[in-house]
Amino acid sequence: LPTIAIVGRPNVGKSTLFNRLVGKRLALVDDRPGVTRDRREGDASLLGLEFRVIDTAGYEDEDPDTLPGRMRAQTTAAVREADAALFLIDARAGVTPLDEEIGRWLRSETTPVILAANKAEGRAGESGLLEAWSLGLGEPIPMSAEHGEGVVDLFEHIRPHVEREEAREEEEYAEDENDRPLKLAIVGRPNAGKSTLINRILEEERLITGPEAGITRDSISIDWEWQAPDGRLRPVRLIDTAGMRKRAKVQDKLEKLSVADGRRAVEFAEVIVLLLDATLGLEAQDLRIADYVLQEGRALLIAINKWDVAENHSQLFQGISAALQDGLSQAPGVPLLSVSAMTGKGLDQLLEAAFKVREVWSRRVSTGQLNRWFEAAIERNPPPAPGGKRIKLRYITQVNTRPPSFVIFGNRLEMLPDSYLRYLTNGMRKELDFGAVPVRLQTRTSK
Ligand code: GDP
Repeated sequence: LPTIAIVGRPNVGKSTLFNRLVGKRLALVDDRPGVTRDRREGDASLLGLEFRVIDTAGYEDEDPDTLPGRMRAQTTAAVREADAALFLIDARAGVTPLDEEIGRWLRSETTPVILAANKAEGRAGESGLLEAWSLGLGEPIPMSAEHGEGVVDLFEHIRPHVEREEAREEEEYAEDENDRPLKLAIVGRPNAGKSTLINRILEEERLITGPEAGITRDSISIDWEWQAPDGRLRPVRLIDTAGMRKRAKVQDKLEKLSVADGRRAVEFAEVIVLLLDATLGLEAQDLRIADYVLQEGRALLIAINKWDVAENHSQLFQGISAALQDGLSQAPGVPLLSVSAMTGKGLDQLLEAAFKVREVWSRRVSTGQLNRWFEAAIERNPPPAPGGKRIKLRYITQVNTRPPSFVIFGNRLEMLPDSYLRYLTNGMRKELDFGAVPVRLQTRTSK
């Protein structure tokens, strides 16, 4: 994960900022004696941007006027390890000799530095902010950790560092993406054929290794490898379904897959297959499950089972397809397939579609491509101008994948109607090929 180290002399507000960034998500504080004794690290979230943050406050000595060796060594290690150092000064106090010393040291390090002048709420920090330029570390960001001010500015300065590191990590990771097990869950109403489908998949001769049933604290899963039509072996992890429980002989008191059960499966899976019964068609409960899956940001596939006993195939398929268009208007075009758990028909296509949809779900669009699309979309259909003043959309950035999540920056965004956001989301689906994968779009007003 991209890492940001917060540095600065005592009392500039490092811990306040750390707490604000990490919130309730404070990860385990490493309290092994010795080296890392005082290290505070946590998973931060800033307007959807996710990174790891290290608070170096713990390295401080009692004497606030010196930069003692111990603090220096620990802080140096944290800064070298980080993708950027967030150097905090106190805007009200201005630049002190100790700030200058830290500034000199940071300039001699290769880690990029983001300079922020904290406690700048109101006008109190104006002169300190000007002084901060003298540190030679670029433009200081005025902010208030205590009052949550300067968040957008901070976001914009941290983002490039997080993205750079993410891109690097993704490159590393992309090489073995296909070796990462596809976490798949099959949900649906009782008797849709979930158990039959799973057993069928697991019995196919193409199944080279496994299956091995694993029971972890939170879910039950089976790992196996699917031989794709191109001959490649691709790992799959089937998660928490009633069918597996029968197989894993831990059924006992557990009932058949209920909606509540399905919820748990959804939590742990990347791709969810909603299984319908061809002899019953699409019902309200199916739509509720589908809706839940999408709300949870998971990739969804819908498979019509018992195709072997279905009648009027094309009429049936079209009917269900049309009902889905109406019923799942928030994600038009969810892939719909027909299968038979009994005969094995359509299973390869189902797995192939599952791998494909995971790829889209995990995809990152380059900032350039994203903003070219964004500008064209705005030009084609400009946002409204309530009260004669146009809403300004400045730029868009992808803050996350799995599911793909975006933030739009601009002005007067609180006035932006939902219909316009839907216009943009639909555009993304079609023109950036996100298809029916759930796409999250948020807006932030920048100053
Ligand atoms: P679950 O409750 O979703 O796990 O459903 P089951 O797998 O227990 O299946 C319910 C019933 O549907 C059983 O009688 C299965 O034999 C039957 N069934 C499941 N899949 C198919 C299929 O593809 N074709 C046919 N004809 N019957 C199926």
